[in-house]
Amino acid sequence: MSEKNHYQIAIIGGGILGCSIAYLLSYNLNPGTRILLIEQEALPAFHASSRNTGKVHAPFLYDPSKRKMFAKSASIGFEMLSDYCQSRHLPFIKDGVLEVATDENGIDHLHKYIQWGYSNGLGQHELKFLDKQDVAALEPNVRCTGAIHCSKDASVNYGEITRSLLTDARNLGCEVMFGTKVVSVNSADHSYFEKGSESLQQGPLPQQDQQKIGLRVLRSPKISETGLPADVPQGSLPDINTEANAIRSATPRQGLSVINLSADYLINVAGGAALHLAHSMGLAKGYSALHFRGEYWVAPPSFRDLTKMSIYSVPRYPEYPFLDPHWVVRIDGRREVGPNAVLVSGPFAYNWNQNVRLILPKILQSVRDTGRVGLISLFTDKKFVTLAVHELRSSLSKRVMINRAKRFLPALDPSQFTKRGTSGIRSSLVDINGTFVPDIYIVRDENSVHMLNYNSPGATGALPVAALIVDGIIKHGTFRSSARSDSGKNAGSTKDLGPVTKWDIHQISDSLTEGIPSRT
Ligand SMILES: Cc1cc2nc3c(=O)[nH]c(=O)nc-3n(C[C@H](O)[C@H](O)[C@H](O)COP(=O)(O)OP(=O)(O)OC[C@H]3O[C@@H](n4cnc5c(N)ncnc54)[C@H](O)[C@@H]3O)c2cc1C
Repeated sequence: MSEKNHYQIAIIGGGILGCSIAYLLSYNLNPGTRILLIEQEALPAFHASSRNTGKVHAPFLYDPSKRKMFAKSASIGFEMLSDYCQSRHLPFIKDGVLEVATDENGIDHLHKYIQWGYSNGLGQHELKFLDKQDVAALEPNVRCTGAIHCSKDASVNYGEITRSLLTDARNLGCEVMFGTKVVSVNSADHSYFEKGSESLQQGPLPQQDQQKIGLRVLRSPKISETGLPADVPQGSLPDINTEANAIRSATPRQGLSVINLSADYLINVAGGAALHLAHSMGLAKGYSALHFRGEYWVAPPSFRDLTKMSIYSVPRYPEYPFLDPHWVVRIDGRREVGPNAVLVSGPFAYNWNQNVRLILPKILQSVRDTGRVGLISLFTDKKFVTLAVHELRSSLSKRVMINRAKRFLPALDPSQFTKRGTSGIRSSLVDINGTFVPDIYIVRDENSVHMLNYNSPGATGALPVAALIVDGIIKHGTFRSSARSDSGKNAGSTKDLGPVTKWDIHQISDSLTEGIPSRT
């Protein structure tokens, strides 16, 4: 293989986590280290990183004993995102959130959330219990039995932030291939080809020595040469275009080429596809991923003044990793109801035809991945089945969906909602017992790291989690760190590198993992 196709570090995935890692890595490693970010779409943040609620979450919904890394990453991420947005003149509006209970049972949950919030570092001035009267004074259109007001939550545009992070990474020397899908990975011990891409299996992937990772990619030169596209306004992601669609489903066609690349170290941050890639390298066996599409409805302008802030409600089934649909106040002023959590067949399953055809094979595959008992126990759990059916109903019926928010905002009228918002897909990890994994799950081997179960508040926590990964790579010892020695291109650069110059990734990484036992 030519030198040109060899990289020291390859990052799979141009979502907010991949782009944060690219930014921090390019600054903290020696100049000249070849870092490549590979993204199957024509632009960064095409999936979950743009298709979310846009909240910077203060950590009061995360049980500190079970979801410690999510909680800590949200806590540290809040400040880092605020710094980053300020430095790049991107909007960051600290607009707060109200978490409401609609019955007496919900009040007990609110008290628990307040304790979690304080344990996760929130101050008493940032998180307060409100009774009915307090709520009526703050948000007169909200009906509830009590609420928590968190003044620290903020709103941002994560798609815009991700694009900016990647521009910064490129300015620091990171190379990027858009329109490029990794279809095969070959490490010292494992060789893998994606199902359905048999025509791409033209012999084994080359490996120059046992330390390297071979990657086979399907690539559209047309897309990958376009580089960073112009700004994409929020709420108007381009539709899944045919060329990128062919790449995503690994369908070779005219104009697409198959290329072999190699890397010394692999960072798998492929979002909902990350588990699939980890399995291919013989890692995270026994785990499966279930995918849940979160759908939104856009409220008409007449509802714009209904509330000042976003309203969340205590979920009906708090033991599962999704919340009930919220009333969302977006940074550009739009109001929406969502997201629900509809079980779908895969991480890119936005369309119904695909789901109806593939959902059963997907469930059977998951049963095989986790061993029969685990998933069967989940799919025979009455509560889970009731929840899944309820979520499906709110996908099929606009009235059912809007009525879920009408419980606490009685003025909402489903008949006035005419436009769907942009839906996004969360991928939750399920273990061998059929239990949802509560926290971020990081899997490492000698030459790779894989980020699994990277769900909400994943966008809030992306920068500190990226610091953790980059710090781990530096400690790994193969690559030399440059930023701290204050030499080379970074120290002498006249470019505005942003807040990366003042972030101490070792210290951020230590704070993030303090008190969390290593699982890898
Ligand atoms: C409905 C919804 C609401 C949410 N709300 C919030 C919120 O308000 N606040 C918050 O903090 N978090 C929220 N989240 C969570 C947050 O959006 C995610 O945790 C975060 O965006 C994950 O980022 P990522 O980079 O890991 O994944 P992604 O954004 O999914 O990026 C992964 C990338 O990998 C690429 N890829 C996959 N496979 C391959 C391959 N084989 N080759 C090349 N490229 C590949 C994909 O195209 C994709 O661009 C929400 C998520 C959803 C779905």
